[in-house]
Amino acid sequence: MEDKIFDTVVIGGGPAGYSAALYCARAGMKTAVLEMLSAGGQMTLTETIENYPGFNEGVDGFTLGDQMQQQAEKFGAETFLTEVTGMDLDGFDKTVHTADEGDFHTHAVIIATGANARQIQFPESEKYQDRGIHYCAACDGMRFRGKTVALNGGGNTALEDALYLSRICEKVYLIHRRQQYRAEQFYVDGVSKTENIEPVLDSVVDGALLENGKWAGVRVKNVKTGETRDLPSEALFVSIGRVPNTKMVPESVERDKGGYLIADETTCTNVPGVFAVGDVRTKPLRQVITAAADGAVASVFALKYIESQK
Ligand code: NAP
Repeated sequence: MEDKIFDTVVIGGGPAGYSAALYCARAGMKTAVLEMLSAGGQMTLTETIENYPGFNEGVDGFTLGDQMQQQAEKFGAETFLTEVTGMDLDGFDKTVHTADEGDFHTHAVIIATGANARQIQFPESEKYQDRGIHYCAACDGMRFRGKTVALNGGGNTALEDALYLSRICEKVYLIHRRQQYRAEQFYVDGVSKTENIEPVLDSVVDGALLENGKWAGVRVKNVKTGETRDLPSEALFVSIGRVPNTKMVPESVERDKGGYLIADETTCTNVPGVFAVGDVRTKPLRQVITAAADGAVASVFALKYIESQK
């Protein structure tokens, strides 16, 4: 496999990555996007995005991702479907190693790898992945049409998912480890008005209920009283936050205590020529629009960096 030479390498093809690629390519930089699966990242799991400006009727995440890719490629960005296995980021000449596309030599690396669902942990929980435990209500909810399901989490995603499932399923148990939700009031109000959502508060998932080895529900434990309760249900949806995807990023790039790459609004990390954009970056609001904005900003600082070194 021949080595490749680019001015900028963007890692991750979500809204942050493709916005960065669009702006870099339009600024005349030879730009590569390295993506594992397909364009769009996490937003492809969203059925309808209603808060991205310009789409009055909403837009599905898959379509938006595809359009972002096409737009960046129209201006010359090149996409490679491959896994990044490591990076050498010291100095002006950097290298990004991939599983099956060889090495990419570059001066600026824009990390746009996003964050993945935090996994739930209880005895044997891994065994029931996709056979009782599900991480994407928009993807798998329809499989439980007319059934009772449980959902764990108290953030925006969890309550949004609970509302979505309440429209498909007969009943939704909403399990949250505290009395107060983390989600915005808009979602909290929606949940309290929805009759077929039963909140199970101050509670954590303690184990699976099984019938003949098959998923039959969850056992929850009240964290204040220690009491347990069985909730017969066909599936457990898990929305307990996200974990940044940084395993291929060298330790020299500083992280916060949650593992997010530390960068301010300039998207510059502590390593010169390395930028963090989108959900993988420390930031107060993780949305498609803030991810896209990061991509645009990173291109300006990437260009400045490259020009300052010549
Ligand atoms: P989040 O805001 O971090 O919420 C995670 C939830 O899971 C919290 O309620 C947390 O409980 C709970 N949790 C964490 N670890 C747990 C564990 N081990 N066991 C049980 N519960 C656990 O994550 P998110 O809801 O995925 O949202 C991620 C970001 O996307 C946020 O910035 C959010 O605002 C944004 N978002 C926005 C929208 C929108 O504006 N339309 C929609 C979706 C997401 P505690 O509350 O007790 O910590």
